[in-house]
Amino acid sequence: MAPDSLERIRSTIRDVPDFPKPGIVFKDITPVLACPKLLAQTIEGMIEATGINQVDKVVGIDARGFIFGALIAARLGAGFIPVRKKGKLPWQTRGVDYALEYGTNSVEMHLDALAPGETVLLADDLLATGGTAGAALHLIQQSGARIVGSTFFIELGFLNGREKLAQHGPVHALITY
Ligand code: AMP
Repeated sequence: MAPDSLERIRSTIRDVPDFPKPGIVFKDITPVLACPKLLAQTIEGMIEATGINQVDKVVGIDARGFIFGALIAARLGAGFIPVRKKGKLPWQTRGVDYALEYGTNSVEMHLDALAPGETVLLADDLLATGGTAGAALHLIQQSGARIVGSTFFIELGFLNGREKLAQHGPVHALITY
C-alpha cells in the first residue's frame, strides 16, 4: 500500500481516551469504516499483508472482527466463520475460556464450522494482549483445520500480543502503535 494511503487511514482512526474505562485509549475505527475509499484500502491492505490469495475459510471474532473477516472472505472467495461470545451461536459448539485482566471470558465456534485440513485465516479489528485471538486460534486448531495466519487492522505492539499467537503461524497487522 502507498505510504500516503496508510497515513490517511492511520490519521482517520480516532483515539477516545478513558473508554470504556479510565486509562484505556480506545481505537475508534468507525470513521475508517464510514469512508468508502479507506474501507476498501484497509481490506486490501489486510489481505496484502498476509501474502495470501487463496484460503478456504476466514474466521472473524465477535463483533468488529465480523466486519473485517466477512469483507476479506468475500474478496478472497472464501467462506466466513464467526467466533462468538458464549451462548450466542444456535447450533452445537466447542468453546474455550481465556483470561482477562480481571476474570475470564469465553468464546465459541460451531462444531461443524470447519473441516479437518481446510485452510483458515483469522481476522480481527485489533490485537491487544492477544487473549481473544489466541482463544479463537485454539478453537480453529481443535477443529483440525490448518491455520495459515492471522491478520489485524490494528496492533497495540507495546502489549506484545503477537508473542501469544506466534505458535499458530504468522501474525500480520496493517497499523501498529
Ligand atoms: P485482547 O484479547 O487483549 O487482544 O483484546 C482484543 C479485543 O479487545 C479486540 O477484538 C478489540 O476489539 C478490543 N480492544 C482491546 N483494546 C482495545 C483498544 N484500545 N481499542 C479498541 N478496541 C480494543
